[in-house]
Amino acid sequence: MDRFRIPHILNSQLTTDFLIIGAGFSGLVVAERLAAAGWKCVVADRRSHIGGNAHDCADAAGVLIHPYGPHYFRTDSPQIVDYLSRFTTWHDVAYTIKSHTRGRYWSFPINLNTFEEYLGRASTTAEFSAWLVKSRVPIDVPQNSEEVIISQVGRELYEWFFEGYTHKQWQRHPRELDASVCGRVPIRTNRDDRYLSETFQAMPSHGYTALFENLLAATPGIELHLGVDWLEAKARWDCKHLIFTGAIDEYFGYCFGPLPYRSLRFEHESFTPEELRPRESVSEKPGFWQPAMQVNYPDTDVPFTRIVEIKHATGQKIDASTIVREYPMDWLPGREPYYPIPAPDAHAAYQKYAQLAAVEPRASFIGRLATYRYSNMDQVAALALAEAARLIARHGSNTPRPHS
Ligand SMILES: Cc1cc2nc3c(=O)[nH]c(=O)nc-3n(C[C@H](O)[C@H](O)[C@H](O)COP(=O)(O)OP(=O)(O)OC[C@H]3O[C@@H](n4cnc5c(N)ncnc54)[C@H](O)[C@@H]3O)c2cc1C
Repeated sequence: MDRFRIPHILNSQLTTDFLIIGAGFSGLVVAERLAAAGWKCVVADRRSHIGGNAHDCADAAGVLIHPYGPHYFRTDSPQIVDYLSRFTTWHDVAYTIKSHTRGRYWSFPINLNTFEEYLGRASTTAEFSAWLVKSRVPIDVPQNSEEVIISQVGRELYEWFFEGYTHKQWQRHPRELDASVCGRVPIRTNRDDRYLSETFQAMPSHGYTALFENLLAATPGIELHLGVDWLEAKARWDCKHLIFTGAIDEYFGYCFGPLPYRSLRFEHESFTPEELRPRESVSEKPGFWQPAMQVNYPDTDVPFTRIVEIKHATGQKIDASTIVREYPMDWLPGREPYYPIPAPDAHAAYQKYAQLAAVEPRASFIGRLATYRYSNMDQVAALALAEAARLIARHGSNTPRPHS
């Protein structure tokens, strides 16, 4: 059968300047820049929607949800904010989270309020700082995720808030994970309880999907094909250059074996205003189920890691609400590879694929899965902008369009 199919595909092969696999942050940002420089771009994604893992949509209750896990936009880069602001306005958010352990909610990330909850009385920054000096384990250069936390707060708070959570999330002990995994969570001796430390913390006013729709509407020269897998796209389009944003091991046919990933299962539950009313003493405000956007569950007898009620962050005015429980899972073929594993053995396995990618003619590998990195949205957008600039420097512009 295949003998007869191949000539047919070749005869009908279409052409484009750039073929981009993946309509997430990486794929759409690079497509926008190249199309603005006058190049024809075909973007193909196997999913039925744009936005990749940052996709958002309304659920059956009308609540705007993040089906692939909560996406909190933040950055220290004014250039990224300026660039994305062409396609969206922003809704400022103070991303707040709590931790639930020992039968109660705790302020989190660890700050002076957490210390007061721990003591059961009022305290001061000076007292907390002195307590930390006594409690922390002296380690000059923390080498892993356990060391990075015990060197700041000591063993007890590490065991309460980090050890179980991290182990559930990664199915590896924090000692086996890069220091950056737990090290990214701030620890403060004042009352600043914001989850994140970046200078710009906001969500697109109408969501991420709307941002990408605006990007596509503003950019003639991008042809979008949803429900199209990489192999199908490769057979359909001949191109000057390929940009691949999917998993690098998949691209190379798993020739060195599959890389390790973590996957997730999301359990959604929606509540009517009547169902939310009895929760007001817990949620501390009407119309919500829990007291913060995200509550971490570090106890190992609880099977999920966190419950997210994204309405706290989106600011959507709606009486109903939806919560999502997140259950970490091993990655197996057929499941989404949500997280590359940030550990030395996984980086080493990736290096073999990176060496193949470096000598692949006429192809670029960008984005979280193709670079096998735990990158945030602003970081993949920056990488996509840099790659577009590099390709434009190499190929030049092709009758630039007026709005570039
Ligand atoms: C649970 C979770 C929570 C996160 N939270 C945050 C957060 O709070 N803040 C933050 O900044 N970042 C967060 N991130 C990271 C964020 O999702 C990424 O930085 C960003 O979305 C990566 O964009 P991308 O385009 O590189 O990849 P993706 O969003 O994964 O897009 C890749 C696209 O390529 C398509 N694709 C893959 N393989 C193929 C193929 N073979 N053929 C066709 N199409 C293919 C996929 O369907 C997908 O649409 C989170 C990630 C996860 C998983």
